[in-house]
Amino acid sequence: MNAKVWLVGAGPGDPELLTLKAVRALHEADVVLIDDLVNPAVLEHCPSARVITVGKRGGCRSTPQDFIHRLMLRYARQGKCVVRLKGGDPCIFGRGGEEALWLRERGVEVELVNGITAGLAGATNCDIPLTLRGVSRGVTLVTAHTQDDSSLNWRALAEGGTTLVVYMGVAKLEEIRQQLLEAGMAADMPVAMIENASLPGQRECRSSLACMHDDARAFVLKSPAILVIGAVAATAVEAALLASA
Ligand code: SAH
Repeated sequence: MNAKVWLVGAGPGDPELLTLKAVRALHEADVVLIDDLVNPAVLEHCPSARVITVGKRGGCRSTPQDFIHRLMLRYARQGKCVVRLKGGDPCIFGRGGEEALWLRERGVEVELVNGITAGLAGATNCDIPLTLRGVSRGVTLVTAHTQDDSSLNWRALAEGGTTLVVYMGVAKLEEIRQQLLEAGMAADMPVAMIENASLPGQRECRSSLACMHDDARAFVLKSPAILVIGAVAATAVEAALLASA
């Protein structure tokens, strides 16, 4: 295979949720650069590759993005097959777009490989259908965390009527709650908070928009977690009743 960089999604944690294409890329890799949200169990597919951890968890000591770019470039220019393995999907809050652009601008061949993003896996594992006929006709994936502190259009989110899936929201629960209430979302809108989706330590906390901050505190909700906000986050039975109403 030609030297290139594969930007690969490792899925949400459960190694069985890895795609066949991700497994093929791992088999062919000489060097694998992994994020700290990647379950190390997936590395069984690249036993002879050199594995480098380049974690970038918010708030923790992390490897500067520029260093990661240069590392990928260096190995690619040495003719190595490089796999950059990211949690979930590389292009959902994963900088896959930036990394692909940066490498292609320098003449490196890049292939992006989807992974199952945490928001989808978390909802499914808790039996929450993100779309449901008569209840939710769409899904919006958002992050509460921005580099420049710019604000989301909360009114559009509240009025859009789609299920909201919020990434990186644990530290911002009170702000999310307040903004959505102010934007007119119903106080009793169901919310599911899902920690460690698809991993053996998965935990879920069901709540409502008004109570989610207090309930999360009592539950000791920890990152990584996603929030599902919308009628579909009611228990399966209630959602089925809503759909048939
Ligand atoms: N590219 C990743 C998202 C990276 S942003 C993806 O597609 O899933 C990091 C955020 O993703 C975390 O703060 C959390 O909100 C979410 N996340 C990642 N893995 C998770 C998991 N196993 N369970 C719950 N949330 C997770």
